[in-house]
Amino acid sequence: MIKELTAEKNISSLIEKLEKQHSLDKEGLVMLLSMENPSELYKAADRIRKKYVGDEVHLRGIIEFSNYCHNTCFYCGLRGPNKAIKRYRMEPEEIIECAKRGVEMGLKTIVLQSGENRYYKITTLCNIVEKIKEMDVAVTLSIGELSKKEYAELKKAGADRYLLRIETTNRELYRKLHPGMSYENRLRCLMDLRELGYEVGTGSLIGLPGQTLEMLADDLLFFKKINADMLGIGPFIPCENTPLEKEKGGDVNLVLKMIALSRLLLPDINIPATTALAVKDKDGYAKGLQCGANVIMPNIGIEEYKRLYKLYPGKVPDDPNEAVNSIENIKKVILSQNRSIGKDKGYRKKVFH
Ligand code: SAM
Repeated sequence: MIKELTAEKNISSLIEKLEKQHSLDKEGLVMLLSMENPSELYKAADRIRKKYVGDEVHLRGIIEFSNYCHNTCFYCGLRGPNKAIKRYRMEPEEIIECAKRGVEMGLKTIVLQSGENRYYKITTLCNIVEKIKEMDVAVTLSIGELSKKEYAELKKAGADRYLLRIETTNRELYRKLHPGMSYENRLRCLMDLRELGYEVGTGSLIGLPGQTLEMLADDLLFFKKINADMLGIGPFIPCENTPLEKEKGGDVNLVLKMIALSRLLLPDINIPATTALAVKDKDGYAKGLQCGANVIMPNIGIEEYKRLYKLYPGKVPDDPNEAVNSIENIKKVILSQNRSIGKDKGYRKKVFH
């Protein structure tokens, strides 16, 4: 018994179990999250990535179409009370034009993201989705918390996927960081999206003040429990003019461990190497791709607006040619990793249900 327990606690056997069974308990996940040298974990995640989703890296072109937001998330530069940023809204025609350019560049998915603001009517958003769907691409929405009826209308208009990070599954931490919002409503949104047949993406911010490894292990178990189709996991980067501006940001290795563990728990899903990871570490995309990621999201918006969509610093450099998330840079990174660019819309090819 003692021998068995000792063996179970052995890091290598934990990784082996995860690689074979794609499940692990909270204690095991905490052990792996705290390991000093995670190279074995990264290699296992890379093997599973190759086995289930192959070498293709899917590009999802993101258009950040408005930075107006009524939410007050403590970490986010777009929070409503931040009066220091200039707000913008793109016209529907501008959004469709950007999408068209993205499609001409060969992109097979267009992601529409914004702060949360009731300016655009659902019918307007549905029209935009319909127009983009005519271009024969997948459409992902990331426009926050809406009613089930609104999600249903957008689905009917052709939206395929929805990204809504849970940010943290610790209710107490969630409450502290999101005044006026409710964890239960966020969960309700994810459940509604699932029921309506969207591919559902969620994820967490890593390195939030007060976040522990136990909380991160709970996040991983939550992703597994809801069988997320996509997971966006990135470091929290402190942003000026927010209540967390003086806090320490998330650690790159911890983000990579979360990506690797997500891949091992959910082998066939889509996992991006996030922009925040690439902003935090100049090799962030490459490192993400080596630890289980198979998606990158180039920013295909308009230069002037990209600059104003300031969730955190460093997202847009002064010289646009140095933007980490330009298509040119991303293609170079993918090829440097001996990976290829995805040729289809990159839906989850479900092996596990
Ligand atoms: N409002 C929509 C929502 O809540 O899903 C979409 C826009 S929101 C700005 C997109 C994501 O930005 C959030 O899910 C959050 O994780 C991320 N984000 C915001 N502030 C950040 C920061 N300081 N560092 C890293 N990521 C951040």
